[in-house]
Amino acid sequence: MAETATKTLTLDEVRSLAKSVFLACGMNDHGSDVLANLVMMSERDGPRSHGLRMLPIYEQSFSSGYANPTPNPIITRLAPSVLRGDGDNGYFQIAAAQARDELIAMARENGIAAFACTNSHHLAALRFDTEPLAQAGLVALGVVNSLSMVVPQGGLRPVFGTNPMSFACPRDGAEPIVWDQASSVVALMDVKMAAAEGHDLPRAGGLDTTGEPSTDPNAILETRSLLPFGEHKGAAIALLVEVLGAALAGGTLSVDNESREAHGALNIKGGATLIAIDPSRFGNPAFGDYVTRIYAEIEGNGTARVPGDGRLSKRNDATEKGVAVSTELLAQLDQLRG
Ligand code: NDP
Repeated sequence: MAETATKTLTLDEVRSLAKSVFLACGMNDHGSDVLANLVMMSERDGPRSHGLRMLPIYEQSFSSGYANPTPNPIITRLAPSVLRGDGDNGYFQIAAAQARDELIAMARENGIAAFACTNSHHLAALRFDTEPLAQAGLVALGVVNSLSMVVPQGGLRPVFGTNPMSFACPRDGAEPIVWDQASSVVALMDVKMAAAEGHDLPRAGGLDTTGEPSTDPNAILETRSLLPFGEHKGAAIALLVEVLGAALAGGTLSVDNESREAHGALNIKGGATLIAIDPSRFGNPAFGDYVTRIYAEIEGNGTARVPGDGRLSKRNDATEKGVAVSTELLAQLDQLRG
């Protein structure tokens, strides 16, 4: 594989670069801060497929009129534990940032609370939606449905999006446990990134044109048919995400991609839900000890590691040394910011 030329950027430089692209897209100061921070966090912690490489896709979503660069989300409390968001056709994270304090207060008041958002787009790793809730001492579950490209077990056509979910849990005296994963073997952006970088996937992630499982990213991009992880079990999780993500608040189902196609957009407008649980309201004062014990039983158990800890080691490394970005991508981003 040919070496790609790179330049090392500090995390502040990554954030400024992303912000300048978002401002050139017509976003305002607040919205561009929220999304630029998201891009920086993906470059810092991974998955880098959701970092700077996503900026052209964000730009296309705005310039095609598919997504609103200056949304005014409407957040409405429908019940003591239910918060509904209308993202005003902007990115979910802008609505979620607006709803966060109220969601946290509701969870603390009632033990559990949910924020379900419709009319919003999502292009990011879900861990950044749940992590702030765990940093506030809450257990969190996040889901977002996307656009159909995952075939249900035994099915003939894609029904589900890559439908990721994220789980975050506070830990006494340490960073929270935060994991997030797609319902597919591999996320579409990672297939694209493997194709761009000219290497195969580590394991079969989709079907080739003959309907056989394949590791070739170009063959998979041709069929746009990804495999669910864990066969029927992953497909069942994708179903759960479809219901909690789209059906609850009335987001677009993954199979209803027409609007996206009409705009030639590559991003995803589905629905997203965050559920926040206050463990201190569940009657077990030793909750933190339980989490510490679960963590300890995984760590040091053969080669097992706690999901999400990979992110923490990348975070430390990137904070110290910065991140290497392909010069080709940097040239493309320079053009985007005009
Ligand atoms: P991965 O398979 O790369 O990782 C899934 C989780 O497993 C991560 O939390 C990872 O954390 C953890 N993990 C990885 N290896 C191990 C290991 N050996 N032992 C224990 N834990 C491990 O993620 P996916 O490819 O499924 O998803 C990629 C990203 O794409 C996610 O961030 C997801 O949110 C995002 N996505 C977003 C979509 C959207 O619509 N916005 C759609 C689909 C995906 P770590 O490596 O940090 O330990």
